[in-house]
Amino acid sequence: MTDEIKVSWGDDWEEAPMFLPPPPAGDYRAFIHEIREVKPFRTVVDGAELTRINAVLDFKILGGPHDGETVNFQRISNMEFQRRGGSKVISSKMSDLLNSSGFQPQPYTNDGYEAALNRMKEDKRPCAFTLEWEGFCSTCYGEALKTATSCVDLAAAKSVANKDQFKLASNAGMKAKNYRGFPEDNNGGRLDFYLCPACNGEIRARARIVQFRKAPW
Ligand SMILES: [Zn+2]
Repeated sequence: MTDEIKVSWGDDWEEAPMFLPPPPAGDYRAFIHEIREVKPFRTVVDGAELTRINAVLDFKILGGPHDGETVNFQRISNMEFQRRGGSKVISSKMSDLLNSSGFQPQPYTNDGYEAALNRMKEDKRPCAFTLEWEGFCSTCYGEALKTATSCVDLAAAKSVANKDQFKLASNAGMKAKNYRGFPEDNNGGRLDFYLCPACNGEIRARARIVQFRKAPW
């Protein structure tokens, strides 16, 4: 009998590191590299109950010193919002994404939006966005949620928490609002992690697309 190399796919399997340091905050060109999920949700717009979709997307950067790097797990929905700064234009992040790549005409159904995202991915159609970092401590978030709901167990807290309690916990978890909130490294950039001043847990930078830039960029 020969020695077998034991391969385990069970509990002791270690995932390859999934998160490389995100690209620094700034403006990038990119295309949709992966559509992880498209999920409908119910919402109220102007008093009417409607269905909108949320997409979880990965982008791959095109050109520049960060060419080929990815910006993962971006939640983009077609839920309408009114722009800040007095503008009356109603838009959504998903329609901003399509506008950014010059995609015309804009869809007016959820299916149309989903088809447009698939089309953008297949065509590797470039878009442009501004990227920021944020630091979030899930330990502080969990503790705040348990306290707010008077639950000892986090799963229980999550199942009973209302909107306000989630918001409160979310604020307690937020530790760095932007790239400059992270410690400097020695190369003119920023470290993508630091220890939470409140609980000493590790805070890793999460990249978030704050704005899509309208074509032509
Ligand atoms: Zn913390």
